[in-house]
Amino acid sequence: MVKIKFYGGTEEVGNVRITIENAGKTLCLDYGTRHDGKDDDAAFPKVDYVAVSHGHLDHIGNLAYATKLNKCTKFIGTTVTRKLSEYQLNDILKIEERRRRGNEPVQPNPRDFALEDILDVVKNWIPTEYNKPVTLDGFEVKLANAGHIPGSSIIEVKSDKTRIVYTGDINLEGNLNGDFPDLNAIEKNPTALIIESTYGGEERDTISKEEGKFIEYAEDALRKGKNLFVPAFAIERIQRVGYLLNRIRDAFPEYEFYIVSPSYMKVKDIAYGNLDLSKLTESARPPKDYRYRQSVMVSTSGFCTGGWSKKILEDVIDNENYTVILPSGFLPEGSPVKDAAEKGYIEIAYKNIRYKKKVRADIKRVKLSAHSDMKGLRKIVETIAPAKTTEIYLVHGEPVSQQCLKTHLESLGYKVKIPKKYEEVEYR
Ligand SMILES: [Zn+2]
Ligand SMILES: [Zn+2]
Repeated sequence: MVKIKFYGGTEEVGNVRITIENAGKTLCLDYGTRHDGKDDDAAFPKVDYVAVSHGHLDHIGNLAYATKLNKCTKFIGTTVTRKLSEYQLNDILKIEERRRRGNEPVQPNPRDFALEDILDVVKNWIPTEYNKPVTLDGFEVKLANAGHIPGSSIIEVKSDKTRIVYTGDINLEGNLNGDFPDLNAIEKNPTALIIESTYGGEERDTISKEEGKFIEYAEDALRKGKNLFVPAFAIERIQRVGYLLNRIRDAFPEYEFYIVSPSYMKVKDIAYGNLDLSKLTESARPPKDYRYRQSVMVSTSGFCTGGWSKKILEDVIDNENYTVILPSGFLPEGSPVKDAAEKGYIEIAYKNIRYKKKVRADIKRVKLSAHSDMKGLRKIVETIAPAKTTEIYLVHGEPVSQQCLKTHLESLGYKVKIPKKYEEVEYR
């Protein structure tokens, strides 16, 4: 008997932990964290294996905690995912250390872990190539390119008589490096297909149209003499934003273009070796007087929940001389970027005081997304499960998007479920 249990990623974007149990062994699909770092203790199972889809924190943020719970845990993933994970987990420890000393903006953290736990993750990582199955006790695991970020994988797990496919985050339009999902590498009509549903409820313009909008907003702001701020994720998004700004940089010689992200160069070295961003200035922190210069600032984190982007957003949000471009289609509830875009103010916590700051900067939104939209997700389902015998589980999406995608797929004859947190399914 094979049991699937959903510990995270249910009715929420990110925070993925889904276990597959067979013959007394447990394999977990991803071991991520929530954008606000909050979750119950019970949501973190002790597992023998973690198959890691890709290096975004909502999928890898708690790998070191998994190894802390069970020192024998082994990790299966691509080498690029291993390097991105190792780098970011070390970065979390460093930021935590600086935060304790009081000279770094606060950011929500995954659960407590130590350097030795990160070293254990690296030591116990089985470097896995695409399309080359790895056999473990009770499981055969195969990875195929997912086209989301470099190293990202669709995961196929065979155990007993069941075959479970998990898309991870997936993008039919491919990533900045030119990787596309290799759907044909996956055997058709698995028992279960666990698919992300971040944009299950919308049809989006193509990435090149969205890039066109980004350039239009950026050029318009700079022509009017305004300053520009763009918060972005450290992997794929910041490189894409950088690549677009690098293209327009020469037209605005009076401006300074900064990428303020200590992690950006490192991630570029690991995963984007051929990308030319030489016209932008890389900096570990913003210059003190940046608000009084003509400047373009790009910074992490993407949702302004931590890192320099939180601090910069708080500094510039009430400044009419700023345009802020939010390059993410999805903005999580309660995050500063969502408040800025929809409520007209952001909440600021200073020591024990909380207050609201009015939005006076011009807020623009573009969807430089690394996820498939509803049409793309439908195509993925139709390609992997043409016989319509597969049970489809929707994860990594907000309830509204999931309900939309469920209705759409059901109208095509698919059996679709939206699992609840801690829900279990058994296959005999
Ligand atoms: Zn994700
Ligand atoms: Zn992702």
